[in-house]
Amino acid sequence: MDNFRCKYLTHENEEIIGFCLNQNCQNATLYCYECLTTTHQDHFNDCIRFPKIDQYMNEFIQVYNQSTKQFKKTYFSVVLKKLKKLWNKIQTNQKR
Ligand SMILES: [Zn+2]
Ligand SMILES: [Zn+2]
Repeated sequence: MDNFRCKYLTHENEEIIGFCLNQNCQNATLYCYECLTTTHQDHFNDCIRFPKIDQYMNEFIQVYNQSTKQFKKTYFSVVLKKLKKLWNKIQTNQKR
């Protein structure tokens, strides 16, 4: 993930290590270690590290399929779409 660096100016040497799924978070979705310990520190549980993404997505899809409440379905489908888009972007980036 060498060419995947944090976009914040003072973090330019920091590698992106995961992304934030917090719906209320106003910061960049992709975060580095510096971001995680500063801007995302109050919602650690919504921050997913790259090695965990596959596992997380599977669990997420299961919850999505089992959920019967419409608002939950809507929320999950939004997050899932976001997640898949990001994941594709990351994988394309890695191949280069
Ligand atoms: Zn950063
Ligand atoms: Zn966040």
